[in-house]
Amino acid sequence: MSEIGYLSKRLRGAVDGLLCQSLIKRPHALPSGRYVSLCFDDFPRSAALTGAPMLEQYGWRATFYVAGSFLNAQHEHFGEMFREEDLRAVIRGGHDIGCHTFDHINCADANAEELASQRARNAAFLNEYGIQSVQSFAYPYGTANLACKRAMHDEDLALRGVKTGLNRGAVDFNMLKATGLQKNKGGILRALEDLDALSASDGWLILFTHDVREAPSDWGVTPEDFEHVLQAVQASGAEMVTVGQMVDRVLYRGPYPHKRAA
Ligand SMILES: [Zn+2]
Repeated sequence: MSEIGYLSKRLRGAVDGLLCQSLIKRPHALPSGRYVSLCFDDFPRSAALTGAPMLEQYGWRATFYVAGSFLNAQHEHFGEMFREEDLRAVIRGGHDIGCHTFDHINCADANAEELASQRARNAAFLNEYGIQSVQSFAYPYGTANLACKRAMHDEDLALRGVKTGLNRGAVDFNMLKATGLQKNKGGILRALEDLDALSASDGWLILFTHDVREAPSDWGVTPEDFEHVLQAVQASGAEMVTVGQMVDRVLYRGPYPHKRAA
């Protein structure tokens, strides 16, 4: 590609990204109260073996954003990824399953057809494990373009990004905010700040991380720090809900029998 061609592509991408942030919103009012959700993205093995049992000690459940292609994979950052038995165990344990793209493709670089095929493939994958429906989808890398955002617009499905902060007021179900437990957010510091902010007024704080290990990746957390967050959530008095539970409360004001996976 020529230099001008390259720059024009970059410019188009930047404009698209800006429009994408401000357009195609889907505002919803939250029920009154203070809520926290905890997500494991991509599903490293350590999320199931270390993270999930820690949550369960509190009687809580997480939301796992599954990308089917990571089954049995060795990830360059997160180490060993989930095995079949891990997925079955978290489903059996009552955790919530959400969709990612099957190959973890970046929706900022994809077109609507590619995204549809990724969603169909991931839905078929989850169907093999008895998951017929999901209530939420997380954009890999938290990004999308206008075409994908339009294609994902679905009244039954909440879409999550990685933009830090609390979901409050007219909450955008086309790009829910979520705060990472990860190195560039001060480890767990930003999450603890957001939790503090939640104590001031109603809202929904979605936290996410990846691996839970003694020497985690830059996008993961140590078990000690993770426990610190769980204790802080408990001390805050906020209600821990899975993303799926919250979506049901917002969209249907109760459990709803969904018909299909994302
Ligand atoms: Zn991801």
